[in-house]
Amino acid sequence: MPEVKETVLEIDLEALRHNYDFLRSRLRPDTKFMAVVKAFGYGSDAAVIAKKLEELGVDYFAVAYVHEGVALRESGISIPILVLHPQIGNLDLLIAHNLEPSLYSLKVLKAFLAAAGRQGLLDYPVHLKFNTGLNRLGFWENDVDFIKRELAGHREVNVKGIFSHLAASDDLEEKDFTQTQIGTFEKITSEITTVLGYSPIKHLLNTSGILNFPEAQYDMVRSGIGLYGYSNDPEIDRQLKGVGTLKTVISQLHKIEPGESVGYNRAYISEGYRTTATLPLGHADGIGRQYGRGKANVLLHGQKAPIVGNVCMDMIMIDVTGIDCQEGDEVIVFGPENSAEDFASGANTISYELITGISSRVKRQFL
Ligand code: PLP
Repeated sequence: MPEVKETVLEIDLEALRHNYDFLRSRLRPDTKFMAVVKAFGYGSDAAVIAKKLEELGVDYFAVAYVHEGVALRESGISIPILVLHPQIGNLDLLIAHNLEPSLYSLKVLKAFLAAAGRQGLLDYPVHLKFNTGLNRLGFWENDVDFIKRELAGHREVNVKGIFSHLAASDDLEEKDFTQTQIGTFEKITSEITTVLGYSPIKHLLNTSGILNFPEAQYDMVRSGIGLYGYSNDPEIDRQLKGVGTLKTVISQLHKIEPGESVGYNRAYISEGYRTTATLPLGHADGIGRQYGRGKANVLLHGQKAPIVGNVCMDMIMIDVTGIDCQEGDEVIVFGPENSAEDFASGANTISYELITGISSRVKRQFL
């Protein structure tokens, strides 16, 4: 382990391999695996994560926006990349980098056909995205006839994939809703298959979908959070390994007298004699104000220490009373023993938000 001199996010690529193997073991051997590496690889550095996953044999990558796909291509990734949420203004750029668009509305479909026509493309791979209940992005079930008319006679594109996204795959109380989504997806894919005369790659499941509804794995799954070590299921989380460990050091210790305050707005007033430690990370590094005022704990020499007072831009203060420590000692904000999910849940949020929010100021160090 490298010595920590400042705040760093350690990325454990062996943990990534472990998680990939774990998720694969839940799937049929012939099911394709699309690794979701949007949002800077869930905060872990998309280029490094994607390179490792490409070596491990994933079939596809997914990103949210065109520029994320461009960055992956520029880093040397050559396998197919699906852009989940392209904008009409970026379609030429998408084509120039051999990225596959999600076509999610009639407007986007028409714009893509126009761009493909202008560029004289033939059989360019696209994926049709259907809304089956999330009500976020996608064609409606009754758009199939329009799609059929729009695509008729167009050789520029090849519908390579058809997909949808589940709203509550992590919530077994909403099982019926998920089953209805699966049923709607079945119906749409069979109609589209009839229209096309062949069966495109069907993909529906995210990480929780793989774990809870493996019967709906179809031809490919799209997994993000599980690869990074989290699953929304504490039992499964114990079997996954957190890829990111956010570490920092104690800059300064302070002895606080009863009645003294700590930090901005005097949000913490000490009731007794306390020792606090000031750490070099704050909301500009991705530890937002919601983690302050005792909501989240870091680990110092294996012991929990709460964040006291308000989170500042570049600093937080923790209560280390009773913990034998010195300036320069290492502090784990989240990691294998203090999971991002636990850290996040104290502040009423989720690991997704925490890990994707660690800002570019924090150095990534790869193990
Ligand atoms: N598919 C789509 C369309 C998504 O938006 C996401 C993530 O938000 C995923 C797959 C991956 O989901 P998860 O990270 O829960 O595996």
